[in-house]
Amino acid sequence: MSEVLIRSDDLSVYYPIGGGFLKPKSYVHAVDGINVSIEKGSFFGLVGESGSGKTTLGRALLKAAPISRGEVSYQDGEVSYDLGSLNGQDLKEYRKRAQLIFQDPYAALSPRMTVRDIIAEPLEVMRLTSSRDETDEKVRQIAAKCRLNLEHLRRFPHAFSGGQRQRISIARALVSDPKFIVADESVAALDVSIQADVLNLLKSIQKESGITFMFISHDLSVVAHVCDHVAVMYLGRLIETAPSRQLFSMPKHPYTKALLSAIPSLDPDERGKAEKLEGEIPSPTNPPPGCKFQTRCRFAVDKCRREEPRLEDSGGGHNVACHRWQELLA
Ligand code: ADP
Ligand code: MG
Repeated sequence: MSEVLIRSDDLSVYYPIGGGFLKPKSYVHAVDGINVSIEKGSFFGLVGESGSGKTTLGRALLKAAPISRGEVSYQDGEVSYDLGSLNGQDLKEYRKRAQLIFQDPYAALSPRMTVRDIIAEPLEVMRLTSSRDETDEKVRQIAAKCRLNLEHLRRFPHAFSGGQRQRISIARALVSDPKFIVADESVAALDVSIQADVLNLLKSIQKESGITFMFISHDLSVVAHVCDHVAVMYLGRLIETAPSRQLFSMPKHPYTKALLSAIPSLDPDERGKAEKLEGEIPSPTNPPPGCKFQTRCRFAVDKCRREEPRLEDSGGGHNVACHRWQELLA
């Protein structure tokens, strides 16, 4: 049996907006009632259009977004944390274990620090080493793992390409020896060939070190290649989760099907069959009643507009939230 490293139960993040700080006008339901389990050592993909709440969910699992409702627990052998009540020394310990790789490799790195100092900073802030020699040794090890040369360490970030910068960000995230990493759109800003390079690096780190990854992308075709398990997010909710192979061979939610059919196909017979996704994702401040996807779903019926479908197991760990998934499969 595989172990679950991170589990959330009814996790919600609501941002107050408008009015005053004490009396907000309304709330952005950025993340709403998420139940998710991430297995230890897995490469877990989170996909959905921009604005669906992926970044907020990833950050909430790192306790870097405010948890409004629900729970998140982390369990690794004897070590366990309940994120809702985590603070003080325990929160510091958790920060060593759970790291973020930033979205934009151009914005994330301080231009005035050398690569060595950028990678070493977490060690110094968290006091993980006791001498400069030890820090240098650790930085060299991690840099090599991320395929950076020793001479790179003396330079400043502006001297590097996007792919190299992303590797510097990865090295910085890895240096504190984390167990869980959230990589948020880590390759979105890069060229396709470099994207593949960085993804392969993350994947080999996962295989070698057993680190658990949550990989966030708006692009299902990126996730298809590397993830063991995929969760599809829409307007703050998970609408389908499954082992990757199952999700790609037999998607069950109309939204997932639309995302998949938007991936350019190499098979000429499949080309042009794409069910285009019309319209835009509604505002999370004022989400539609019933199924969150009903306003854009061409299969929506009255029930979909009234009643929100729950995420339920359709067999083999493949979960889907759609009233009509069985009918639509036929
Ligand atoms: P994604 O990463 O999928 O694009 P986000 O998690 O960034 O989605 O955002 C989800 C929703 O929450 C969006 O509507 C966004 O505008 C809103 N949001 C994100 N962060 C904040 C914040 N700090 N304050 C108010 N609204 C926010
Ligand atoms: Mg995002």
